[in-house]
Amino acid sequence: MTIENGKVVSIHYTLKSSSGETLDSSQGQEPLSYLHGAGNIVPGLEKALTGKDKGDAFDTVVPPAEGYGERDGEPEEVPRAMFPDDAELSEGMMFKAETQDGQMVILWIDRIEGDSVYVDHNHPLAGHELHFAIQVVDIRDATEEEVSHGHPHGPGGHQH
Ligand code: ZN
Repeated sequence: MTIENGKVVSIHYTLKSSSGETLDSSQGQEPLSYLHGAGNIVPGLEKALTGKDKGDAFDTVVPPAEGYGERDGEPEEVPRAMFPDDAELSEGMMFKAETQDGQMVILWIDRIEGDSVYVDHNHPLAGHELHFAIQVVDIRDATEEEVSHGHPHGPGGHQH
């Protein structure tokens, strides 16, 4: 069985920056399961996995445009008081906010300086080349429910 749309794929991955720093890895944890063709992972990695077999191991470099996108704009300064008092804020943290016209947006905290929080609508890895080392652990057919939800269920997947 090879990887194509409609398969649930389990992979081990290590993600490094262009300078060789490890940014994320599944080693020592359960493999990551995703539904191929559903946009669960960045497009460049999905493309590199297409046609691979169980047991395959390979390295691939994903450019920003096929990863988390190019950076667009700079972080904006907002007062700490805009956040709930009991919120524990940290650099790199993701949160959801509502715009004035009622849209939900995802933002990340770029940095905190005193009473100022710099928030960024760019993903922290936007503008970065992604260096992946991948090992294909398992491939199976997705169930109809998984296809209609757009993500895998069961061990390593979402439970809903
Ligand atoms: Zn579901």
